Amino acid sequence: MHILLLGGTTEASAMARALQAAGLRAVFSYAGRTETPVAQPLPMRIGGFGGVAGLCDYLRSEGISHVIDATHPFAAQMSSNALAACAACGVPLIALERAPWQAVAGDDWTHVPDIPAAAETLHGPAQRVFLAIGRQHLADFAGQPQHHYLVRLVDAPQEPLPLPRAQVIVARGPFDLAGDFALLRRHQIAVVVAKNAGGVGAAAKIAAARILGLRVVMIDRPVLRPPLLDAGQILPARQVVDTAEAVLEWVHHSARLGV
Ligand code: NAP
Repeated sequence: MHILLLGGTTEASAMARALQAAGLRAVFSYAGRTETPVAQPLPMRIGGFGGVAGLCDYLRSEGISHVIDATHPFAAQMSSNALAACAACGVPLIALERAPWQAVAGDDWTHVPDIPAAAETLHGPAQRVFLAIGRQHLADFAGQPQHHYLVRLVDAPQEPLPLPRAQVIVARGPFDLAGDFALLRRHQIAVVVAKNAGGVGAAAKIAAARILGLRVVMIDRPVLRPPLLDAGQILPARQVVDTAEAVLEWVHHSARLGV
């Protein structure tokens, strides 16, 4: 058995610990987006595979028997590639994905389908906006330059941000309620823009916004669109579980079946 664990989330790190504790042979894969990725108790590889074809080559050359996709729910490209490559190579795949957050009493959420739509909801007078969406899509907010943005990033940006009035704070999750409550209050934030990541690592800002009575622009998860390798190929539905224990059960079960 040789497991490929696609990582980059708090849940993936917990999965790595569970695989190591279970004595299973596995390799942890990072995209390489952050300067100092969290160390893992498994052998690590860093960087893209080169699309579906590259991932297929990797699965074959490394003798991968199982793939666990524990990437962020917004890492749709990687998840789509994993689905297509595993189908093409006959390697079993499971996704470890946290359930999306649901609004509860006291929440003031505006649901939007994607990041450009989140930016669009900010038209109007200047406000103090907390952007907790990572660095890749900040330019989408350049069309709303009137706001003061507080941007939380894992690494200090190497280039000026594409936003005229922005302050960066560098911090890596998981975050806690006391810290995020103090942060939003200190910066007099009026609106929080968040991806619906689910899970606990990034939930503190949502709970803090609820307590402070702030509006949250909640970006819904992207839909997976796996590329087809061959014309007419039908891809199987993705099996998704939400705990590391369920993944281990799946690994043991498929190993018993000789998959
Ligand atoms: P993405 O758009 O789905 O992926 C773009 C490309 O990056 C993929 O096609 C793949 O390159 C490479 N890649 C992504 N994840 C990889 C992994 N775990 N191992 C090896 N290559 C990977 O992904 P993204 O949204 O840029 O996210 C990148 C990483 O950051 C992911 O691992 C994700 O778990 C983590 N992350 C993302 C977010 C977010 O909001 N998107 C938030 C927190 C953490 P090739 O096609 O060359 O194989």
